[in-house]
This record gives sequence, structure tokens and C-alpha cells, in this order.
Amino acid sequence: MKRIAIIGGGISGLAAAFELEEQRRAGVELEYTLYESSPRLGGVLRTEKIDGCVVEAGPDSFVTEKPWASDLCHRLGIGDQLIGSNDSHRKTYILTRGRLVEMPDGLMFMVPTKILPTGLSALFSWKTKLRMTRELFHPPRAVDRDESVADFVQRHYGREMVDRLADPLLSGVYGGESATLSVRAVLPRFAEMERTHGSLGRAMFAARKKMGKGPRQSAPALFTSLKDGMQQLAESVRARLSADSLLTNATVQAIQPEAGGWVVSAGMQSDHFGAVLLALPGLAAANVLRLTSSRLADELAAVEYSSSITVGIGYDRDVRHSLPPGFGFLVPRSEGKRLLAATFMHNKFPHRAPEDRALLRCFFAGRNAEQVWSLSDDQIVGIVRNELQQIIGLRAEPLFARVYKWKSAMAQYSVGHLERLERIERLRQQLPGLALAGNAYRGIGVPDCVRSGRDAAKLALQS
Ligand SMILES: Cc1cc2nc3c(=O)[nH]c(=O)nc-3n(C[C@H](O)[C@H](O)[C@H](O)COP(=O)(O)OP(=O)(O)OC[C@H]3O[C@@H](n4cnc5c(N)ncnc54)[C@H](O)[C@@H]3O)c2cc1C
Repeated sequence: MKRIAIIGGGISGLAAAFELEEQRRAGVELEYTLYESSPRLGGVLRTEKIDGCVVEAGPDSFVTEKPWASDLCHRLGIGDQLIGSNDSHRKTYILTRGRLVEMPDGLMFMVPTKILPTGLSALFSWKTKLRMTRELFHPPRAVDRDESVADFVQRHYGREMVDRLADPLLSGVYGGESATLSVRAVLPRFAEMERTHGSLGRAMFAARKKMGKGPRQSAPALFTSLKDGMQQLAESVRARLSADSLLTNATVQAIQPEAGGWVVSAGMQSDHFGAVLLALPGLAAANVLRLTSSRLADELAAVEYSSSITVGIGYDRDVRHSLPPGFGFLVPRSEGKRLLAATFMHNKFPHRAPEDRALLRCFFAGRNAEQVWSLSDDQIVGIVRNELQQIIGLRAEPLFARVYKWKSAMAQYSVGHLERLERIERLRQQLPGLALAGNAYRGIGVPDCVRSGRDAAKLALQS
């Protein structure tokens, strides 16, 4: 009977446990134990129901294009609970010199695919618009080394595009800054487009033309979530696992190879397993591996993380009707605010707030989160209210406000990340029976974490 330990009960570890449970039910002789240091499973997937509103403390949804989280929901039998974003109301604003400017239609990340809306938009100066036109003539380019997203975008569209669009968009996803994030790890498709087409604009037009030739299908919603919130995914996995396999309040201090397997030490207990799957953030994985391989531990610890704060804030019907239409706004760092983004959750998804409520989700990350980290929740809510007043003129008294702090939870794939992953993989292969999953490696989004857990479970089983 193969015994496998999973360390970490976030969505990566839960997806791994689900995979093993399915194999067990299919007749494979195996046993698994999941160790989670906190009292609850789900990691950063946490949802609260407040005043009829579904308030997400961590992720609010995932990108529909990446299928692994939706697939997991279907396998769990909760496919009917999936909800798509209300894309017909999708409008996002960028704070530009103190006022909200709508992102023009047809922008694919920062690549314009519709000439008229971009040409008429107040988001960009004429200089940037001219660069967009010139960009169409960039020849294919073989780049032999990684670079930052900021350098890459600047080469194509200039500095203004970095400040107004690339940086705020990446802050919203990674909580990081385009000056340090790796273009190859974070925007691999764009790096490839540059290699094959040179111009990103031309590459997009070519891709659209190709798509246009196929049978017309209605586009799926851009984002997907669950009716009762993202925690529903974690809870549904937990319900499928055998309760005896789940250890909460169980912090693993170390894992060490011994007698053809691994010894896992948690508190005063040690247990022996054939394989160990670490589903932990980089630094936590490094800490438990330190005694076994200091080189692997150093590489894992070098994957940087940023901290983030979300604030769920509820208002009444009048506020709901007074807000600008759309999904919310992003704030470039150059605007000098502490908030990086606010999402109008009641517009973005159905089932998020009753008709007579407005639900906003406000977001701080990286340097901006560090600046307010040590303040009390009331003080942080005070900053949110003050900046909402400055940005959208919102003065009303909230019905409720909740602050959620996430210390070093979002991985930052800095320049050279893919080379680091190769070194990590070589070192891991020297430790038979060790598998790695989580957001430190090939994607920080929920679907990527689900895929990484599933694949690591298969690897642990084969080892
Ligand atoms: C505020 C925020 C918003 C986000 N928004 C989105 C979004 O909208 N869409 C999206 O797709 N992604 C989003 N993400 C990213 C995504 O949610 C995460 O990358 C993903 O959920 C991480 O899952 P995980 O299981 O790898 O890690 P975690 O959720 O961090 O879980 C790791 C678990 O390991 C446990 N642990 C740590 N050390 C030990 C130990 N020594 N022993 C035992 N257990 C231990 C921890 O307690 C934790 O439960 C967001 C992340 C954050 C923080």
C-alpha cells in the first residue's frame, strides 16, 4: 500500500488529495494524509456571507480560458454552481490624472486590436497612439534572454503604456510590479508573438483572422466563479475526502528521506510515507526541506512573494445606483493613491449581492499593502473610504466593511524565473518520491494551482 503525505491544504493540496482519492476509489492501493497548519482547509480561498452579500477574502474568480478549476468542479458534481461574469456590463476604468477613463474596447491586455476605440481613447496621449501604429511594423525578433514586462512593453509601446496599463493590470493579478516580473513567465504568449511576428498588434490581428475562419461560437464569460463563492470549491473537495486523511492544526516542521521513503515531522509526531507532495508557498516549502537539501531550499526561498489586502465593503441601494457602470477601476501607481483597484462585485457576477446592496472589493498589494499593513482595520477602512471619495465621489456610510490581510501569498515570477524552475526541477529529481505543487512555479491563478496539484499527485503516485 503506497502512503503519500500532502503538506498544505490550500487549493493546490486539495486538488492533489482529490486526485489521490479518485484513484483510491478506482481501486488503486494507496493511503494519503493531508497536513494543514491552520484550523481550516482552503488556504487563501475564503468566503464570508455578510448582510446577504458573498464577500471574497481571497480570490473572487478565475479565468475561464484555463479549464482546470472548472473541470474540477464538474468532477466534484458542482458544475451547476459555476457562474460566469456579466460580460455585457464589462467596463473597466483606469484612473488617469485624477479622473476615471474607460479602457477602450478591443484591448487584449495592452495590445490594441480595434483601431477606432483606441485612437479615440483619452487613456493614451497622441505620442503613445503613434507608437501603437509604428509597432505594427516591428519585425520578428529572436530574444535570447528574459527581461522584465516593463522593458518588453516599453520597447513595443513606450513608457506611458507601462504606467497606465501594464503595471495596473499586473498589480491586479500578481500584486507585483511590471519592472520586476518576467515577461517569459508572466506573458509567455506575448514573448512568443514577438518571436514569430515582431509586432504584437499584427500577431493579434493574425490570430483573430484565424479564429474568424472557424465556426462562430458565442464567447464564454471571461471569468468564472461559484454561486456561493470560491470557498465552495474548497469545501466541495473536502467533503469528498475521507475525514481520517485530513489533519488540521498540523504544521509540518521538516521532511527527510529515510529508508526508501520520507519521514514527515509535525509537532511531536513523525510518520513514514513512500512519497511527499509539498503544496506550499516557496518559503514554506524551503523551510521544511532545509535539512534535506539546502540548495533546493535556497532556490525555493528565492521565489519572491508579495503581500496583499482585500477590503469587502457593502453599501445600500442608493450607492448601487450612483456608481459608474462596469466592473470597477484600476489605479496606476503614478496616481499616488494607496488603493490599486476596486471591483464592483454586484455588477461583475450574479449572486454576489441582493438588489438593494452594492458590494465593493478594494485591493492593496506589494509596496502599497506594506505601507498600510500595520494599521488597524478601522484605519485601513478609513483609507479606502477616503480614496473612494476622491476617485468616485463616494461619501456614503458603508453598511459593513471587512479587512483581510494575506502575508506573502502571491508569488512574483521575477526575471529569470523559468531558469530557476529548471534548477528546482533538477534538484527535485535527485530526491525520489518528492513532488511539488502550488503557486511558486507555473501560474499563480486558481486553475494553475489545481492543475499543479493534480499533476503532482500523479507524479507522487508513480514515484
Ligand atoms: C488576495 C488574493 C487574491 C487573489 N485573487 C485571485 C483571483 O481572483 N483569481 C485567481 O485565479 N487567483 C487569485 N489569487 C491567487 C490564488 O488564489 C492563489 O495563488 C492560490 O489559491 C494558492 O493556492 P495554494 O494552495 O497553492 O496556496 P495557499 O492557498 O497559500 O495554501 C497553502 C496552505 O499551506 C498551509 N501551510 C503553510 N505552511 C505549512 C506547513 N509547514 N505545514 C502544513 N501546512 C502549511 C497554509 O496554512 C495554507 O493553507 C489570489 C490570491 C490572493 C492572496
